[in-house]
Amino acid sequence: MLLFNKRSEQLRFNIRRCQEESNILADENLKLSQSNSSLEEKINRYNNLKNIIEKINQDLGLEYVINTLADIVFSLVSRNKGACLLYLVDQSRQKLNLLTTRKENDQLIIKDKEGDIFDAWVVKHTSPLLVEDSRKDFRFDPQKLKGADKRQVRSLISAPLISENKFLGILRLDSQDPQAYNQDDLRFLVIISDIAAVAIENSEFFEKTRDLAIHDSLTGLFTKNYFLERLSQECLASRRQKVALSLLMLDVDLFKNYNDRFGHASGDIVLKRISTLINEFLVDQNYLACRFGGEEFCILLLGADKGQALDIAESLRGVIEASKINFRRQEAKVTASIGVAVFSQDMDKEDDFIRKADAAMYAAKEAGRNQVKC
Ligand code: GH3
Ligand code: MG
Ligand code: MG
Repeated sequence: MLLFNKRSEQLRFNIRRCQEESNILADENLKLSQSNSSLEEKINRYNNLKNIIEKINQDLGLEYVINTLADIVFSLVSRNKGACLLYLVDQSRQKLNLLTTRKENDQLIIKDKEGDIFDAWVVKHTSPLLVEDSRKDFRFDPQKLKGADKRQVRSLISAPLISENKFLGILRLDSQDPQAYNQDDLRFLVIISDIAAVAIENSEFFEKTRDLAIHDSLTGLFTKNYFLERLSQECLASRRQKVALSLLMLDVDLFKNYNDRFGHASGDIVLKRISTLINEFLVDQNYLACRFGGEEFCILLLGADKGQALDIAESLRGVIEASKINFRRQEAKVTASIGVAVFSQDMDKEDDFIRKADAAMYAAKEAGRNQVKC
């Protein structure tokens, strides 16, 4: 009997030990499988880097670069959870400007368009930031955590976008849950941000160059080449969709006299003034305006038929005539002659359209200037 009791006690002891061993193994197994899947995720992310670089650099437009970046980071780092915010520095105001967001919850409205205290930290330190739990992070004053947004940011990772020592903006992921991100996530975000900063700078440079190429340096209106390109597209669209299209050819009257009387620089002021008047007057219209030549301007009115175009041309002529330009305390009077042409389906080339407007403008000159002809 004694022997039996001893054996069964031994047996119970062995079973307990086996259970403990099995628990330890299950625990280790769980840890291993967790680390395995996090390793798999890491490998997947880094394998994706080549694709990411290719994708970001596919198009030089700033909008494309920014949207692609936000999509990639939100899906790959944040697993489409929480929110992704991309700020660029508005160089003229020297402030952050929230350009795009990706959100798990579509209803979420982010009101802090110029960034909150976490973004201010990244700007100040120009270094990446990981906040595991904002409530326990001594770097941030809990009183200041409540920004304009009602949402509570409990954890986040944020990386500065820096290219050649120039601070361009911030790429940030945040969550209402604590511990949503770890060091690996931040490391990967920093790698993408470094790639992104170069792409953003390239696209800003590209857009500036394109902007210079399509705008006349004196008046800021479109250049003739760009205007002709757009005119051709609009004529095509007008043919397809049968929408009205009108063209105004505007030439400053006796402009040579301004140059002769007041000098070439004063003549330039007249040209700038006329372009401002054109833009101000047409602010509610759908239009394209260009400096067609020296003191000649061309305006395309989208959707305007003959009657509307004539009304607009006549009012614009009146606005120019009524404007006052002072040179050396003398008031100079500026007038312009305007030719109007209406696009018709039988015109086989845009040249016909321009020729018609030009002929109408010359008719206005011949009729005594400062008038509109069609
Ligand atoms: P019209 O009423 O017949 O159009 O007379 P106009 O004097 O305006 O015409 P004309 O073609 O004889 O003279 C145009 C002048 O515009 C000649 C040229 O010196 C001047 N001009 C052209 N481009 C510029 C410019 O960029 N700045 C200045 N200040 N003058 C320019
Ligand atoms: Mg002229
Ligand atoms: Mg002229």
